[in-house]
Amino acid sequence: MSLVRNTTEYKCKVCGRLAEFDITDEKSYISKKEHDNFLGLTLTIYRVAHDTPEERHHNSVVVDHTGLVRDYRDAYSEPLHTTGASIDFRYWVYQEDAISSCPTNGIELALLISRDQHWVVDIICPPTMNASEIATLVVDKVEESYKVYTSMLQPMEAHIGGLDFHIWTSHTRILCVVLKNQKLLSILNSFVSQIFGEGGADLVPRRRLLNLVFHIIEKNPNLSHSVLSRIMNENLLFTKFQTPFEDRIPSIVERTSVRFPIAREVLAPILRGHMTLIEALETVGHSHIQDVLDLIEFINRRRILG
Ligand SMILES: [Zn+2]
Repeated sequence: MSLVRNTTEYKCKVCGRLAEFDITDEKSYISKKEHDNFLGLTLTIYRVAHDTPEERHHNSVVVDHTGLVRDYRDAYSEPLHTTGASIDFRYWVYQEDAISSCPTNGIELALLISRDQHWVVDIICPPTMNASEIATLVVDKVEESYKVYTSMLQPMEAHIGGLDFHIWTSHTRILCVVLKNQKLLSILNSFVSQIFGEGGADLVPRRRLLNLVFHIIEKNPNLSHSVLSRIMNENLLFTKFQTPFEDRIPSIVERTSVRFPIAREVLAPILRGHMTLIEALETVGHSHIQDVLDLIEFINRRRILG
């Protein structure tokens, strides 16, 4: 009888501690979801958690067929003991090791809040504002309105801390924004159900991803819903790949650039692990977003790698 252990180690994105789970032991993780082949990799997404005395740290990790962690989809912490001492501590800001939220021209503040899991993602938030406090005040307003009205206006308006908020709500989530350019209201309105619904109910969307999405929406009011959906559901935006087929990169770039000229700019750095997909989307300019997505889909569909 052989005892095969398949230990997968990951670095908790909340506290930096090394933790592990066993992909052959379903008690060691919370859930798993198969993912399609991606740039030659066969991938599975695991939801895992470890506890500290005060908190439970959740991570969603993307693991390849050898049991190696290739990417993180989210990470957040949940208090293990709710003291009930102060309502202000009910919402915590989802932390990540990425850049801080980058402002846009037309939006002063944008927060995505979970009503049941008590996190807030500061999509766009000036450093002078306290996202957790704002989330608590916004949620209080929303709960109050649910008591008063039989149906909610979408968006509802509220005046909080001297600012005019537009607030959309779903069963589990709240999006609140403060606009500098009021024309953006109808545009955001058309995308809000996607922002609420994409990516899976248990996933905390990453700040950097939502920030990119808000930049794109602001610059491309006519963005198709399917493109937004593809960006938000892309599992490996943050992964550095470094394909084992390095010697084939020049010919792959040559062949694919006939059909997708953007390949000359981004494909070699992506395949060599010098650029992540989200870096490519952030740098190519908003008019080329769809070209990059089409290029990656083409490579995957044709199984050009692996
Ligand atoms: Zn941790």
